[in-house]
Amino acid sequence: MYRDRGGGSSKGGEMLDRKRINDALDKHLEKSSPSTSRNKGSAIAVPSTSTAVGKHIDHRDNRSSSNLATNKNKCSDEESETDSEESDVSGSDGDDTSWISWFCNLRGNEFFCEVDDEYIQDDFNLCGLSNQVPYYDYALDLILDVESSHGDMFTEEQNEMVESAAEMLYGLIHVRYILTTKGMAAMLEKYKNYDFGRCPRVYCCGQPCLPVGQSDIPRSSTVKIYCPKCEDIYYPRSKYQGNIDGAYFGTTFPHLFLMTYGHLKPQKPTQSYVPRVFGFKIHRP
Ligand SMILES: [Zn+2]
Repeated sequence: MYRDRGGGSSKGGEMLDRKRINDALDKHLEKSSPSTSRNKGSAIAVPSTSTAVGKHIDHRDNRSSSNLATNKNKCSDEESETDSEESDVSGSDGDDTSWISWFCNLRGNEFFCEVDDEYIQDDFNLCGLSNQVPYYDYALDLILDVESSHGDMFTEEQNEMVESAAEMLYGLIHVRYILTTKGMAAMLEKYKNYDFGRCPRVYCCGQPCLPVGQSDIPRSSTVKIYCPKCEDIYYPRSKYQGNIDGAYFGTTFPHLFLMTYGHLKPQKPTQSYVPRVFGFKIHRP
């Protein structure tokens, strides 16, 4: 069923679809009755509004070879009619990538670390999330690669909803996980690898940054990067990363990270930029 995982490289299309699905999910959340959306009319019709955007970017980025991307894009280009069994084309059974590593390797998802299965399997860690995420049980099964028999009864749209819900659920688990010892260690590896990018400020001299949210409430703002040197936040360089919800990283992470790994906290920048006109400093009254 969740066929779109076959080729690890189907990123361009994915992002697009994510946008589209998120729009749909937004609408869906407003209506908020997960189990009743079986009829196509309701939440499902929504995507058509954002297809224009979808198409636009699709053509540029979608060079991926995997046929799933093609499938997906076909969906967004032609809308509806591809509802059914196209899913089986790429035989999802053959792949041994877990959903989590597939997800973390999508373009734009570079900031996410891989959350331990063990962490997710402990109900205690997921406390309260079932109220926040639609299709919670299905989403959880998807994340953990549990074969669910319900997948076959779902329509394409419902499967997309579940996939989108899984992303959200993963994000909300992720924000908790990266505050744990293991999660922080995983983020440390990524930090050392410059996975979060570098500060664009010239006098920060390429200081590696950390991801941060401006809010802990989902869907209120996108993720930013925090520079430990100038202690300011910036937009991520990649527009794909720029679409990620900041609540999946949270307001606490970089600061707790730097408290935990105190030796990584850099010195304050010694230089700052001075505006000059014909070589003279500008007089400020
Ligand atoms: Zn900086």
